[in-house]
Amino acid sequence: MNILEISRLTFSFSRKSEPVIKDFSFSMKKGEIVGILGQSGSGKSTLLRLISGLEMAQSGSIKIAGKTVFDQKVFIQPEDRGVGMVFQDYALFPHMNVRDNILFGLHRLPRKERKGRVKEMLELVKMEPFELRFPHELSGGQQQRIALARALAPKPNLLLMDEPFSNLDADLKEAIREDLRYILKTANMTCIIVTHDRQDVDAICDRSIILGQKQNESKNNDKIDMLTIIK
Ligand code: ADP
Ligand code: MG
Repeated sequence: MNILEISRLTFSFSRKSEPVIKDFSFSMKKGEIVGILGQSGSGKSTLLRLISGLEMAQSGSIKIAGKTVFDQKVFIQPEDRGVGMVFQDYALFPHMNVRDNILFGLHRLPRKERKGRVKEMLELVKMEPFELRFPHELSGGQQQRIALARALAPKPNLLLMDEPFSNLDADLKEAIREDLRYILKTANMTCIIVTHDRQDVDAICDRSIILGQKQNESKNNDKIDMLTIIK
């Protein structure tokens, strides 16, 4: 089954401006990890925001886990899409400890299952001893693991990561790449990772696409096109 099916999606920020996403189609199978590459401004974050429901496209459709979340008649709210997100700056709540950060997204889970879910997630990201720490007491890499645990805790259908490594130094990045692939595959999670580093894609992803201009097709081609390459 396809977890994500995007068909002919077109989006621009205003009626007058050129579309940022233009006639874009794409699908993902369960458990796939796909990298999205592309220059700054090519629409990577916008695409994730369309998938998660933080922006609404002008046309096309999006299905998640078989359910239409967007088309000409349907707009499902972000919290009902079953999509988890990890942002560049992790966006952990600074006034909450690790446990409460992870619990935050679990309000729909029966109360008696929540504690076990937090434990399961901390185990998955190998952060069990840090349950009562606050974000400022963690390193960048540790914060990122907690952000990942928080996003995975509600068991989303799809995980979206927007430049998850850009705040990490090079050594840490290398170690985290391997762990991330292991964690995602262990959880059988379907995941999109936006990055501008091809090495991230090589280390973590099953395949990748590039958003942006086709630069060497035609000299006069100043249209934005979507180019899909399979690794
Ligand atoms: P990327 O994540 O690939 O760097 P973005 O998706 O953030 O690119 O942006 C794509 C394009 O849309 C850019 O040209 C950017 O300037 C424009 N853009 C992004 N956010 C807004 C906004 N809120 N209003 C108008 N234009 C925007
Ligand atoms: Mg971006």
